[in-house]
Amino acid sequence: GVVPIRYRQLMLALRYLGYLVGLTPGHYARAALEDSFQSFLSGGQGYWTDLQLEYPVPLPPLDSLSPAMCSDLRKAVYQCEASTAKLTIQPGYLLHGRREPFKDESPKKVTAVLRHYLDVVVNASHRRSITRLLLSQHPLAIERMRYKQRYHRVLVPRDERVCRFGWRVVESVEHALLFCRGEVELVEWGWPTPCLNKLMLF
Ligand SMILES: [Zn+2]
Repeated sequence: GVVPIRYRQLMLALRYLGYLVGLTPGHYARAALEDSFQSFLSGGQGYWTDLQLEYPVPLPPLDSLSPAMCSDLRKAVYQCEASTAKLTIQPGYLLHGRREPFKDESPKKVTAVLRHYLDVVVNASHRRSITRLLLSQHPLAIERMRYKQRYHRVLVPRDERVCRFGWRVVESVEHALLFCRGEVELVEWGWPTPCLNKLMLF
């Protein structure tokens, strides 16, 4: 089946961790791993800290880790994905129930197909942006504050992920594209919304 992207990323990261753990102590990559672990212990940032932020329970200390244990951790993530018990994943709700338009036919739901918007949006970067919006891989608060990250280590309730321009509404895709009037300068230039132009160019 299809594995949600965050689980897939975590599984790949753990596979790479298994590779690093298996290196001889003098190897540069192994030394960098040990540095990042020490940085994590002292509250600093780095590879290990990022990995721990993604992993739902405390990782074992580096000196007790083996490649086989990393493989077990990866399996645990896979099983967790099946039960969705530990991590919160909400696939792109904007695509749920979407009816795909077809020439000379009425729109219908299709699970796997070349999506209409991939065909009609001719600019490649715009195509990438709209795909990321639909699949919840965008920089808006509603998505970014859902997870712990390097510079943002607390989970924020959905209602508090509000517009960065000061509106007391959730900074969602719908708000950013259709309603936000947060920055007067951009509105006066005739942009549809500030968010559309300032936030969507990623
Ligand atoms: Zn806004």
